[in-house]
Amino acid sequence: MFEMQVKGTFDAAHHLRGYAGKCSRLHGHTWMVEMAVQGEALNELGMLVDFKDLNRLLQETLEPLDHRNLNDLPPFTSVNPTAENIAKYLYETLAPRPFFQRNGVRLSSVRVWESPHSSVRYSGENS
Ligand SMILES: [Zn+2]
Repeated sequence: MFEMQVKGTFDAAHHLRGYAGKCSRLHGHTWMVEMAVQGEALNELGMLVDFKDLNRLLQETLEPLDHRNLNDLPPFTSVNPTAENIAKYLYETLAPRPFFQRNGVRLSSVRVWESPHSSVRYSGENS
């Protein structure tokens, strides 16, 4: 089993509804996102999947969040845009993409870093 990982970032504002503390006020982060994929079979070049294609897929997925107030975007109009919910949203947005089946890999996890020392990893309902 091989696991590959790519990283991307986006800049966005958010605030946490119902939170007693500074994070209830509007503020921003440069969110770092790590996407990990797994698979077994290498192609004739010795690659599981091209890093270039993984990077493109991640960038496409992050682009709608960049320079936005996350609280204005579904699903964060109704669920708090915590790092946990952002990781779950990104996982659930990525998982059904035909990219994975086409390339014979599966989405393993999405990790969202809210700061250089705080991250959340989401790997689906049952793992
Ligand atoms: Zn925050």
